[in-house]
Amino acid sequence: MIITKKKPIGDILRSLEGETNVFIVGCGECATVTQTGGEKEVAEMVAQLEAAGKKVVATDVVAANCQELDLKRILRKHREAAEQAEAFLVLSCGAGAQSLRAATDKHVLPGTDSLFLGNTQRSMDFVEKCSLCGDCVLDEYGAICPVTRCAKGLLNGPCGGTSHGKCEVDPEMDCAWVLIHEQLKREGREDKLTRTHAPKDWNAIAHPGTLKERKDKPEAK
Ligand code: SF4
Ligand code: SF4
Repeated sequence: MIITKKKPIGDILRSLEGETNVFIVGCGECATVTQTGGEKEVAEMVAQLEAAGKKVVATDVVAANCQELDLKRILRKHREAAEQAEAFLVLSCGAGAQSLRAATDKHVLPGTDSLFLGNTQRSMDFVEKCSLCGDCVLDEYGAICPVTRCAKGLLNGPCGGTSHGKCEVDPEMDCAWVLIHEQLKREGREDKLTRTHAPKDWNAIAHPGTLKERKDKPEAK
């Protein structure tokens, strides 16, 4: 899921300077789980904006803000409020805010900062294990990603800074290369550690990423 954190209310109010009528859009997926844009956070934002003299013309927590067609449907559902709104405050990731961008020409502002694609370890405990490099090499590394989990992204590690299994960049964090070594040992595939890996081909993730797959209709018989 996409991990987000709330923007400070002062930053949001600065962005809303000169505007009164605000429409707040939350997200029922990632932003609900990360507690940045679910029903509760939307209600809290209403209270904060109203305390600052703003008028909240409507709120909605969309099933998933990254579904662009859903955002268009929401604006049709709240047509009158959408017309009154001077600004749309989006409590979800940046992708969600840009879904709304595609649905209206008005001022759209994010209420969160988007951080990373995260695994949920337990409630409100998230960790980045994949940074979407576009060319997955996990099989070479015991399914522990050095691109993401090694602070230096080393494909041929470890560096000289490993200490007692921890990373020199953050001593609270396990050294990914110690984890990789231990895992490959458990699998009896330590020979992988003797290989030298070529630099990664970063062209695999040229931005913006796109993927379109259209299945051709079966030919009529
Ligand atoms: S190599 Fe790492 S960053 Fe790349 S796709 Fe695989 S898990 Fe994700
Ligand atoms: S100590 Fe380990 S995880 Fe940290 S940068 Fe060096 S090899 Fe990577």
